[in-house]
Amino acid sequence: MKVFTSSQFPNARLLAITALSAALLSACSNSGTTQVSAANTEGLITAGKSAVQAATLSDADVMQLSEKSCAELDGKSKIAAPKSKYALRLAKVIKGMPKEVNGVTISYKVYETKDVNAWAMNNGCVRVYSGLMDMMTDDEVRGVVGHEIGHVALGHSKKAMQVAYAAGAARQAAAASGNSAVAALSSSDIGAIAEKLVNAQFSQAQETEADDYSFDLLTAAKLKREGLITAFEKLAKLGDSNSMLSSHPSSSGRAQHIRDRIAAKK
Ligand SMILES: [Zn+2]
Repeated sequence: MKVFTSSQFPNARLLAITALSAALLSACSNSGTTQVSAANTEGLITAGKSAVQAATLSDADVMQLSEKSCAELDGKSKIAAPKSKYALRLAKVIKGMPKEVNGVTISYKVYETKDVNAWAMNNGCVRVYSGLMDMMTDDEVRGVVGHEIGHVALGHSKKAMQVAYAAGAARQAAAASGNSAVAALSSSDIGAIAEKLVNAQFSQAQETEADDYSFDLLTAAKLKREGLITAFEKLAKLGDSNSMLSSHPSSSGRAQHIRDRIAAKK
């Protein structure tokens, strides 16, 4: 999750996401203040319920929402047929890579698109875009896949889903209806959450943790780690035309971190 699209307008997209997050944060605190000052007891209980539900999307809810989000995106995407060159290549690439994450079986698939992206969800859904495969070697794709699995294994994806869910207006409807959080969501709500997840911006600390996770995975499987370095260098080239990315973890810095780790282990 979070690479780059082939679109020439990633700046606008990043900007929109940042502005949206800020607006949502301020909207949350505003509504909290208003409702607490209201003398209506019923209102207080409703507000409380809504806040609690947003903060405590259960593990089962996260799993169910991941399942629905992945199905929604699969439905909208061109999935490489099992015997296609991309599917066969990915099958080769993931040999030696985990078959499970957090005890859940991983399902690997390729989306045929020019976009450069890859992501993983809590239900074991791992998707690699053919645009990314076209620009990377097998070792590099493996490094990226390990990184995406890391986001799930380390709980980053669960947090991103909590944020995406809490940001949706659907949360209010779900809380009001008293239904299970996920069951109350419409398919367009799910689609919006899925898009947020695929384009989630992780923190610099989370990106480094996921890099280290991938490094450790590759090391344990006795696979080449150097692909992780060159993958970042290639992504850095894509990102150089994009000044917005300068405030995000620098791809060249991440490549150097992996280089340092390889040197230290020798
Ligand atoms: Zn990442």
